[in-house]
Amino acid sequence: RGKRAFIAGVADDNGYGWAIAKSLAEAGAEILVGTWVPALNIFESSLRRGKFDESRKLQDGSLMKITKVYPLDAVYDSPEDVPEDVKANKRYAGASNWTVQEVVESVKNDFGTIDILVHSLANGPEVSKLLSETSRKGYLAAISASSYSYISLLKHFLPIMNQGGSSLSLTYIASERIIPGYGGGMSSAKAALESDTRVLAFEAGRKKRIRVNTISAGPLGSRAAKAIGFIDMMIDYSFTNAPLQKELHAEEVGNTAAFLASPLASAITGSVIYVDNGLNAMGVGV
Ligand code: NAD
Repeated sequence: RGKRAFIAGVADDNGYGWAIAKSLAEAGAEILVGTWVPALNIFESSLRRGKFDESRKLQDGSLMKITKVYPLDAVYDSPEDVPEDVKANKRYAGASNWTVQEVVESVKNDFGTIDILVHSLANGPEVSKLLSETSRKGYLAAISASSYSYISLLKHFLPIMNQGGSSLSLTYIASERIIPGYGGGMSSAKAALESDTRVLAFEAGRKKRIRVNTISAGPLGSRAAKAIGFIDMMIDYSFTNAPLQKELHAEEVGNTAAFLASPLASAITGSVIYVDNGLNAMGVGV
C-alpha cells in the first residue's frame, strides 16, 4: 500500500506545502490537504477550473491528485474554542468541521489512518513590527498559529498515525540568527517550533516510533512571504552570499520532505535540516 499524507497549509501552488505535496505524490503517496478556511473557496474553485493544472504535472505527465481538501483553522482545537464572531463570519459559517479535532475525526472516518503529517503554515499578525514593539496579543497569536498549531495537529493525528510514520514542519533561520524584518514574535515562534521538534521526536518516537523533523528552508516568494514584505531582498541576499549561488526551488524543499518521510531517513529524528543553498553556514556575507 502507498503511504497517505496529510499536508496542513496548502492554499495555492506557490508555497512549500504545494511543493511538498507534489514531491510526496511523485513518490507514490496519496495526498490529503488542510486549507485555511478563508482561503478554501478560491483554492477549491481554482483547482476545479484547472488553474493549477500546469503545476500539478508530475514527471510521467499525469496530474497530481489531491484526494481530499479539508477546511482547517489550526488556531482552534475544538468547536468550544471558536469565538462567536468567527463562527458568524460568512467564510467560516460556509464550511464545517474545520477545528483540528474535527479535521482529524473526518480524516479518520474517511481513510482510517495516515503515515505522513506535514505542517506548512505560519501566521503572525504583527510580523512587520519590531519584536520590541510587538503586543502581547500579537506575540501569542504568532505562537498559537505557528507553533502550538503543530503540537495540536500532532497530538490529534498521533492516534491515527501508523507505526513508523513521519511528521515534519517548516522553520526559518530567524529562530537562531538575527533576521531584521521577521518580527511580531515570528522569530520566537520558529525557535519554539524547533525546540518542540526535539521534544516531540522523543515523545512520538517512544510512543509509536514516529519520526519528527523540521526543514529550515531558505527564502521563497510564497504568498505568506510576500505578505511579510522583505522577501525579494532576502532572495537576493541569499543568491549573493550563499555557498550555492543559485535560485532556491520549492521543489528542493519538497524533495527533502519526501526523503525525510521515506525509509531512507529511518534514523533521522529530532533534527533541523537546512535546505537553503548553505546560507546558514556563512558567518559573513561576501
Ligand atoms: P504559504 O502561503 O504557501 O503557506 C502558508 C499557509 O498557511 C497558507 O496556505 C495559509 O493559508 C496557511 N495558514 C495561515 N494561518 C493558518 C491557520 N490558522 N490554519 C490553517 N492554515 C493557515 O507560504 P510558505 O512560505 O510556503 O509557508 C509555509 C511554511 O514555510 C511556513 O511555516 C513558513 O514559515 C515556512 N517557511 C517559509 C519560508 C519562505 O521564505 N517562504 C522560509 C522558511 C520557512
